[in-house]
Amino acid sequence: MEFAERVRHELARAMPKRRCCQHAELAAFAAFSGEPGPGGVRLTAGSAAVVRKMFSLAKLVLGEAPAMRRQGGRRGRFAVELPQPPPVSGEAAYARDCCGRAYLRGAWLSRGSISEPEAGYHLEFVAGTPGQAETLRGLLARYGVAAGMAPRKADWVVYLKGADAIAELLRLTGAHGALLEWEDFRVLKEMRNRINRLVNAETSNVEKSVTAALKQIEDIRLIEAELGLDKLPPSLREAAQVRLAYPDVSLRDLGQRFDPPLSKSAVNHRMRRLARIAEDLQRNKTASG
Ligand SMILES: [Zn+2]
Repeated sequence: MEFAERVRHELARAMPKRRCCQHAELAAFAAFSGEPGPGGVRLTAGSAAVVRKMFSLAKLVLGEAPAMRRQGGRRGRFAVELPQPPPVSGEAAYARDCCGRAYLRGAWLSRGSISEPEAGYHLEFVAGTPGQAETLRGLLARYGVAAGMAPRKADWVVYLKGADAIAELLRLTGAHGALLEWEDFRVLKEMRNRINRLVNAETSNVEKSVTAALKQIEDIRLIEAELGLDKLPPSLREAAQVRLAYPDVSLRDLGQRFDPPLSKSAVNHRMRRLARIAEDLQRNKTASG
């Protein structure tokens, strides 16, 4: 089952305990999944889990079982015919904090979607009118969740960007299992990223030290050809010889080959002096050549 399906199933199973929240969620279903029907409102959905919730909620709130049927034409869609319109609608439905969450849940179950965590962080609601989209955005803002809004064909999309906003929405609507799964995924991903950064930094350090060693050997070869290593002061001659003997070790390891051993910075200092000599020789060579 896809992550989106697991979220949908979990939210479909979450039945609000408070009467006010039951009204709120049914009002959201009517606003986002409703169309005119014989008894006033017909709710439609493509998911069996969501249809079951619509049915149970309508029965709880209206005190009467709604009629259910498969919708002709569109395959796999169900219709729940409410015997009467939900008694609460509009702002009254989500005025209280507890009800706002239930309303968001009903709206998301109606036409919401969420990406697979591996595919990126995207969660959205789809609304039929800009007014409904504004309502959702305002509700999300009430709980500190920032959302964007954009037209899509005949509809309006309210979308959340970023793992934090999505985690907060899962928490608010009661998708606690999905939230745990989401957080686990984020922790793993963060760890993977951190390891990649370390590996990359390590690789770039190795590259730097190899490039530096190649340059040092080139300098020493030049000094050898133009001046002769025996003309160097003893400390630099030793450094040149050790580097030629161990061309592929780091400066720190190179220091261990000296007798007595040298620190990395002492080796580095000698290599810089060799580099300056090579630079002078090169300049003279160019000037005279
Ligand atoms: Zn409530």
